Amino acid sequence: MAWFKKVRKPIEPLAKSQASRVPEGLWVKCPSCGEVIYNKDLAATLSVCPKCAHHFRLGAVERLRMLFDGEWQEYDTDLQSTDPLRFVDTKPYRKRLDASIAATGMKDAVICATGPIEGIETSVAAMEYAFIGGSMGVVVGEKITRAIERAIDRRLPVVIVSSSGGARMMEGALSLMQMAKISAALARLDRARLPYVSVLTDPTTGGVTASFAMLGDVNIAEPKALIGFAGPRVIEQTIRQKLPEGFQRSEFLLEHGMLDLVVDRRELKAAVARVLRFGIPAEAAARGMPVLPVALPAPASPQS
Ligand SMILES: [Zn+2]
Repeated sequence: MAWFKKVRKPIEPLAKSQASRVPEGLWVKCPSCGEVIYNKDLAATLSVCPKCAHHFRLGAVERLRMLFDGEWQEYDTDLQSTDPLRFVDTKPYRKRLDASIAATGMKDAVICATGPIEGIETSVAAMEYAFIGGSMGVVVGEKITRAIERAIDRRLPVVIVSSSGGARMMEGALSLMQMAKISAALARLDRARLPYVSVLTDPTTGGVTASFAMLGDVNIAEPKALIGFAGPRVIEQTIRQKLPEGFQRSEFLLEHGMLDLVVDRRELKAAVARVLRFGIPAEAAARGMPVLPVALPAPASPQS
């Protein structure tokens, strides 16, 4: 007879996930509080529920519109995946790409642009979740790397807004290489003494979290965003334990030291601009601009 018996606990089912993308139509029902909101009102509040502050997912274009003061200049709009592995799962990757291009009007899951944020010229990359789950393939990796290199050339700060399911599996190991490539570009940005602000939105997972999303000089997240490496279901099935309440959400990560700030979307632009301004004195010094001498208080003469 065995002395010890390992009792396998059954895994409790997760609560049904709620759709958080703004649906089409005139009226929208908030998945968090059930409030029925007029679609145009939602646009005015940056897709945040006016009653309970639930943050709906925001597309890349709306994100840029929210961050920049006005016009912006977009780059590398024609880069497109070549499907190097001729990958087929439930349907060919080529067909998946074509469908996403038709649905979003974008060639891949990121928009890279430069423009002013409260007057500070910045290189911004915003990811689009609607394009194959905002996954990072060769094109996303190349565009973000170029956005960082552009910032180094012109001495601009960098802001990357993540919204991604992680690396794009249909591009195999090539997609994983983008993690190292972007991280190396960020290291060069750091050596050039330029600030990088990472904005993590719902969801930021997988290879994106494991590389550039967590490498910001300041990491800012939107409230209640799902941020993690492996999904909660995978972790529960591996450790066979129920995860604590709020696990992998912004507030939980802030409490455990993984994030610097959790900021409401309506105050996000001001928060990003404040961080960028904070990064600028060092930037001015690196450019050889005169830095005012700091007057140190005279040491108090010892009284005897
Ligand atoms: Zn609500």
